[in-house]
Parts: sequence; structure tokens; C-alpha cells
Amino acid sequence: MSDCIFCKIVDGRIPAKKVYEDDDILAFNDINPARPVHVLVIPKKHIASLATVTADDTPVLGKMLATANEIATAQGSPDGFRIIINTGRVGQQEVQHLHIHIVGGPDPVGPMLKRI
Ligand code: 5GP
Ligand code: ZN
Repeated sequence: MSDCIFCKIVDGRIPAKKVYEDDDILAFNDINPARPVHVLVIPKKHIASLATVTADDTPVLGKMLATANEIATAQGSPDGFRIIINTGRVGQQEVQHLHIHIVGGPDPVGPMLKRI
């Protein structure tokens, strides 16, 4: 996707602080971190969101989650972390390239959601 910012990070047209990479996934620091550790993990292949995945995407989704603990530990969140996957309008997804947020750091990240 030529106009997708995360595809541009994958192919080097936009710089990012990469913290993990293999053939299928890329992890890099969020440009506007919400916690001391805030890493985005993306499939290198353009997938718009969790709402558009197919059965073919199952291996890469599994790899994104299975790699999260290693990334979090290496980046300074060895005692746990939180995964967030914002999806679609209701999930308030801003970038339309599937990504998981890994948030953490030395201290607990806080309540999961504000109550309505
Ligand atoms: P979303 O709301 O879609 O779940 O999260 C998108 C995330 O991407 C936000 O946390 C935002 O700070 C991050 N982001 C947006 N543009 C860029 C960018 O160009 N580089 C990096 N590293 N992060 C970005
Ligand atoms: Zn993309």
C-alpha cells in the first residue's frame, strides 16, 4: 500500500526506531509513547485491521503475539505488559495497518478502560 504510513516504515520510506524484525513482522517504538515502553508490532504484509483478517493471516497474528514477551522484556518491561489492538471506528483505530501496541515499563500501566 503506497500511501500507508506503516508500509512506508516497512520499506524504509519513513524512519522508525526498530526494535525487532524478521521475515514477517516488524516492531518499532511508537512516535508518541503513552508509557515508558510503547512498541508497535505490525505484519510486514499490509493488513488493514483485525476486522479484515483471513484464515491465511493466522500464522502472522500468532507470531505477533508470541514475540511480544521477548520484545517487552528487551525494551524494559520484564514483569508484564499490556497488549492493545484498536480496531475500526469503535476501537478508534487511527492507522489502517494492523498493529498491536505493547505498553509497559517499570510500573503498572493503570486501569484497563475508563468506566462510562
Ligand atoms: P492506533 O490509534 O491506530 O491504534 O495507533 C496508531 C499509533 O501509531 C499511535 O499510537 C501513534 O502515535 C503511532 N504513529 C502514528 N504515526 C506514526 C509514525 O509515523 N511513526 C511511529 N513510530 N508511530 C506512529
Ligand atoms: Zn500498510
